[in-house]
Amino acid sequence: MIETISYLGLGTMGSGMASNLLKAGYELTVWNRNAEKCEPFARKGARVADTPADAVRDVDLVMYSLSSDQAVEEVVFGAKGILSGIKEGQIAIDMSTVPPATSLRELEAYGKRGVDFLDAPVFGSKRESADAKLWILAAGNKAIFENVKPVLEHLGQSVHYFGKNGNAAVMKLVGNLIVALELEALAEGLVLAQKAGLDLNTVMEVVKVADFRSPLLVNNGENILERDFSTSFALKLMLKDAGLIEKFGESLSSPIPALRVVEKNLASAVTLGFGTENASALIKALEKEAGIEVKARRVNE
Ligand code: NAP
Repeated sequence: MIETISYLGLGTMGSGMASNLLKAGYELTVWNRNAEKCEPFARKGARVADTPADAVRDVDLVMYSLSSDQAVEEVVFGAKGILSGIKEGQIAIDMSTVPPATSLRELEAYGKRGVDFLDAPVFGSKRESADAKLWILAAGNKAIFENVKPVLEHLGQSVHYFGKNGNAAVMKLVGNLIVALELEALAEGLVLAQKAGLDLNTVMEVVKVADFRSPLLVNNGENILERDFSTSFALKLMLKDAGLIEKFGESLSSPIPALRVVEKNLASAVTLGFGTENASALIKALEKEAGIEVKARRVNE
């Protein structure tokens, strides 16, 4: 049974997950590159580690959510990284969005140390992470999955097992391909509606109920109309993911023509300076081209 857990990477997603592990009663150790983010956890009784190697000492399970491949390189494979501290019999779970090839590289490195490893990226964003409502994907050894499933169930509303290592990372890219295209469709649709002079509040009324509705379209559409681009999922991370999807699609000769368009618009929005805003700020690249700003009508307008 898992009793002690280390969580590394207390960003938007990791902080929510780590809080829920504490709430669930696990004995928690935390580590984050910027140590300030550990303070709220220390106040709630977590042990704060100085390095990733120190963080993973003597725990049953090591979990992490890091922004990119580069971050995984440093935190897992680096000089004071997880691999230099972890021991035979421990379990590691990477919850970051990384290419399947990275998951397989991690599997091999952990395997050499007698450590079991799962890739377990997630769907959902800041709110779902904080509220333990994530949709969690997992891949790797089935018995290890069954062992850690109760832990994952404290973080999400559903947990989906995908078989061999790397498959959950693949599913994450498949899902984010759909997310990227939905965001682009929403942005293009709202810009077109505004250009055509439609009442955008009524447009959103339809988006909420029609057969093409989705929570992603509704939440992002409402925030765009309010000009609220506060970050749940950073635009620059969506651009990173578009790059991962592009490479992965190409490696399998799977066509991704629409993704390439979204990637270009994401890159334009980052160049315009919106990389740390929410991914929905993708619309700002289209607005610039269109010479308009999509905004809700106020009652007295
Ligand atoms: P975030 O808020 O930017 O947090 C990123 C985390 O990675 C922080 O803890 C950061 O440390 C750490 N980090 C970055 N570079 C590092 C490095 N070189 N060395 C050590 N640590 C490093 O990102 P997030 O939104 O939580 O996303 C985390 C992962 O989940 C990403 O792979 C993302 O694609 C994925 N994801 C995000 C969402 C979402 O809606 N936000 C949804 C699903 C999946 P510092 O605090 O020191 O910068």
